[in-house]
Amino acid sequence: MSDTIKIGVSSCLLGERVRYDGGHKHNDYITGILGDYFSFVPVCPEVGCGLPIPREAMRLEGDPAAPRLLTRQSRIDLTAQMQAFCAAKVKELEGEDLCGFIFKKDSPSSGLFRVKVYNNGMAVKNGRGLFAAAVANNFPLLPMEEEGRLNDAPLRENFIERVFSYRRWKDFLASAPTLGKLVEFHTAHKLLMMAHSPDYYRQMGVLVAHGKELAAAELFRRYEELLMKGLTLHATAAKNTNVLQHIMGYFKKELTAEEKAELLEVISQYHSHLLPLIVPLTLLKHYVRKYDQTYLRGQIYLSPHPAQLMLRNHV
Ligand code: SF4
Repeated sequence: MSDTIKIGVSSCLLGERVRYDGGHKHNDYITGILGDYFSFVPVCPEVGCGLPIPREAMRLEGDPAAPRLLTRQSRIDLTAQMQAFCAAKVKELEGEDLCGFIFKKDSPSSGLFRVKVYNNGMAVKNGRGLFAAAVANNFPLLPMEEEGRLNDAPLRENFIERVFSYRRWKDFLASAPTLGKLVEFHTAHKLLMMAHSPDYYRQMGVLVAHGKELAAAELFRRYEELLMKGLTLHATAAKNTNVLQHIMGYFKKELTAEEKAELLEVISQYHSHLLPLIVPLTLLKHYVRKYDQTYLRGQIYLSPHPAQLMLRNHV
């Protein structure tokens, strides 16, 4: 995997004093934990579009599908100024090889979900900041999250897993890919995809099976779309349990009756939310090593991101 995994981040989350009031919203998890694995590309769209620090606060108004950005008191319409910045910035970001983006929540420029949009004095929380919307439109498969949602263990695990998956996919594309290499990639991602969506995994399999009928660029484009969309579907306890039982099936001959009973009990406790996913996985990985199970060793599902991030200790 490439040494550098770049993700875009709202500048104020990195501690830069760029907010309208001259402050920041430094996020310890991003700079402290994720900083060991990712390098950051900071973007503050409000400063980037030429506004000063400090500045008047602003908000979204009008149609939530196409809101306008206005200053709160002086009622200056900054929509065109912000949109000009967004158009230029997303072009620039195309050269950054980003694998994800973390946005500041609630901001009329950077908020990704449920940003307030005012209409006739009423606020409805269903908008998206103008810059976040531009990034989402220009990079529809890029993993994106808000910093507040990273406090939620399943959302955090899902986002970071997608970032690492996107990096692996981009490395694949950069490796003079062939249909044969795509079959290998697909095989290695089988259990990971099964944990997210058996249906997407099946569609990807059909695509790969008909790979010779498509031009390579079209094949890879379609595969990438299925891969990244499938991974946005959450790996639930039920789907993970199916995958864990499937892995256990590889050790039918090796395990004693007591070892099988112990493994089934641990998987059952995970399914009932009494144990985190890391527990049955650790036991299964022990057997993969002990019995040198070559096929399972190659499964990304067993180690989709660094263990030090402890993402599976909380899901
Ligand atoms: S939320 Fe966005 S626009 Fe506001 S200060 Fe942070 S990076 Fe800048």
